[in-house]
Amino acid sequence: MNLCHLALIIPLLAMPAALADGLPDLGEASQSEFTPQTERRVGEAIMRDVRHDLSLVDDAELTDYLNNLGYRLVAAGTDNRQDFEFFVLRDSTLNAFALPGGFIGVHTGLILAAQSESELAAVLGHEIAHVTQHHLARIIAKQQQSSLTSLAALAVAILAARSNPQVVNAAVATAQASAIQTQLDFTREHEREADRIGLQTLAQAGFDPRGAASFFERLQKFNRLYENNAPEYLRTHPVTSDRIADIQNRLESLPYRQVADSLEFQLVRAKLRAEEGTPLQAVAHFEEALREKKYTNEAASRYGLAVALLRAKNTPRAEQELAQLRKITPANAIVENLAAQILAASGQSSAALAQYQAALNSFPSHRALVYGYADTLLQARQSTRALKLVSAQLQAYPNDSRLYELQAQAYSMQNKALLSHQAQAEAYVRQGNLVGAVEQLQLGLKAGDGDFYQLSIAEARFKALRAEHAALAKKP
Ligand SMILES: [Zn+2]
Repeated sequence: MNLCHLALIIPLLAMPAALADGLPDLGEASQSEFTPQTERRVGEAIMRDVRHDLSLVDDAELTDYLNNLGYRLVAAGTDNRQDFEFFVLRDSTLNAFALPGGFIGVHTGLILAAQSESELAAVLGHEIAHVTQHHLARIIAKQQQSSLTSLAALAVAILAARSNPQVVNAAVATAQASAIQTQLDFTREHEREADRIGLQTLAQAGFDPRGAASFFERLQKFNRLYENNAPEYLRTHPVTSDRIADIQNRLESLPYRQVADSLEFQLVRAKLRAEEGTPLQAVAHFEEALREKKYTNEAASRYGLAVALLRAKNTPRAEQELAQLRKITPANAIVENLAAQILAASGQSSAALAQYQAALNSFPSHRALVYGYADTLLQARQSTRALKLVSAQLQAYPNDSRLYELQAQAYSMQNKALLSHQAQAEAYVRQGNLVGAVEQLQLGLKAGDGDFYQLSIAEARFKALRAEHAALAKKP
C-alpha cells in the first residue's frame, strides 16, 4: 500500500497538528533523499495521527501478541535491522497494510478471518517484505512531480472531505487522490517479490507456508463474492490466480509442516469475537459454540464466553466460566488478567489488587497486567502504590508512554501539578508529539508548585525539548 491510500483508510483526526509539526518539513526533501531515516519520519508523522484514531485497538494483549508474532517473522527474515511496530485497527474489512518506516497495521476483520496462525503470519510476512524491500521508497522515488508535501496536503484535503462530506472540493480532492493512488500502487513485481520473500520468512519462522496459499485462496473467493466492493486487502494487493499459482509452485520446494496454533492466537481471536455485536449477542455466540461443540479450541471459547459475560456485566457467571477455564488451561497471563478484571468489575477491589499482584509475579512482562493493576490502584485512590508500581516499570520500560500517562494521573491525584504535567510531557515525547510535550512543561512551570530542584529539572527539560523541536522544524 502507499502513503496516500493509507491516509484514505485511516481517518487522521489530528492532522493539523501533524502538519504543523512534521509533514511539510518532509516535503522539502528531494525524492532521491528518501532515506530510511526520512521514511521512518514519514511513518512516525502518520503514526502520531493513528494513535489518536478512534478505531485503533488500545489493547496491550492484542498488540503484544501481534508484535511477538511479527517480530518472530522479522527475526527469521533476510533483513532484521529495521524497526517495526505492529498495530490493530477495529475494522471489519479484510485489510493489512504497511506504512513507510516499518509500521504495519492489521484490521480486526482480517485477524478474525484467519483460520490458523500460519494464515495470519502469511499476511504479516507479505507486509514485512514490502517494508524490507523498500517498495514504498522505490515507488516514491520514481515520482518526478508529486513531492511529499503535495501528497501530505492531499491526504489532509481528502480526510477533511471525508469527515465533512459537504465540502465542495471533496470530489476534486478524491479525483486527484485516485490519480496519485494509481501512480503509487504496488506493482505486480512488488507483489510477487513480497509473496516470494514472505513465503521464505514464513517457513523459516516455523509456520506452515501453506497458510499463505489457503488464505489467499479464500481471499480470492471473497473477491468474487464482493466484485467491485472487494475488501481493501484485495484491492491493494490484488489476489490473482497467477499469484496463487506462483505461491503453490514455490510450496512444492518447501517441506510439509503441521503447525499447531498458539493458545495466545486462539485467545486474542476469542477476545476480538467477544467484543463484536451487543454483549448479549456475544454471550449467545459462545454459549452456542460450547453447547454444540462448534469450536477449534474449547479453552478459547470458554475464555470468549467469560469476556462476553464481563461485557454484559454478568460478573457472577463470568467468574464461574473462568473457574471452568482454569481447569482446562495451563497457567496463562491472558486468563489471569481476565480474572483480575472480573474481580475489579464486581467491586472486589482488594481481591482484584491481590490477583494483579500474584499474576504479575508469575508473568512480570505482561504489560496488560501492569496497566490494569495501576488503573485499579488509581480507582482505589491508592496513588502512592500506583506511583511505586509505575516507577519500577519505567526503569525497565523507559519508552512506554502509557506508563508516563499513569504516572501523570497519580501525581494529579496527589495535587502535584508540576510533576503531573512533566510526566504527561514525557508521554507526549514518546508519542512523537513534541509540541504537546513543550506545552505540558510550560503549564507545569506555571503551576506554581514544585521545589527549586524539581523546577530546575523541568526548566532544563523544557529548554532541551524546545531546542529539539526547533531543530526538527529546520531539518530538510
Ligand atoms: Zn502487497
